[in-house]
Amino acid sequence: MAKKFVRAIFPGSFDPITNGHLDVIHRGMKLFDELVVAVGRSPIKNQLFTPEERVEMIEELVHDLPGVSVEAFEGLTVEYAAGRKADVILRGLRSLTDVQYEFQLAMTNRAVTGIETIFIMTSEQYGFTSSTLIREIASLGGDLSNLIPKSVQERLKQRLNEK
Ligand code: ADP
Repeated sequence: MAKKFVRAIFPGSFDPITNGHLDVIHRGMKLFDELVVAVGRSPIKNQLFTPEERVEMIEELVHDLPGVSVEAFEGLTVEYAAGRKADVILRGLRSLTDVQYEFQLAMTNRAVTGIETIFIMTSEQYGFTSSTLIREIASLGGDLSNLIPKSVQERLKQRLNEK
């Protein structure tokens, strides 16, 4: 049987991208032929960076990874996935709280379009890393060098100084 070509999308807000997200990308790229990091607009989350800025920040970090690309998208993830002819949605899991929410999301997405979701469990050292906490710690001047790439740290500092 011929080997299948598998295209996955990794959707999220990535506001900003963290080492936890990057870890999922590095591990996910080994499983799929193509991995598209898809930056969505979250209607409920307060956004610090525009989707264009987030794409730019991610691109700087993944441009030399084979098979990995970055795009912004609007609207429903499942519609974007269908338009991109993606076979799989990739998501990361940090905790049991994530499981509850992600389970519901994955079930709904499968019921609506039949698309499968594949989960990668976080590496232990990033289990508590979230973009929301990163934004909070950064606004209080905390040291984030273990949790986000240096380029992201600099952008965060700049953005918070502008405010
Ligand atoms: P969303 O708003 O769609 O949850 P996020 O940018 O917060 O977007 O997260 C995108 C995906 O990355 C989600 O599946 C989330 O669970 C996962 N993720 C976030 N942080 C980590 C981490 N530290 N380790 C593993 N997965 C993570």
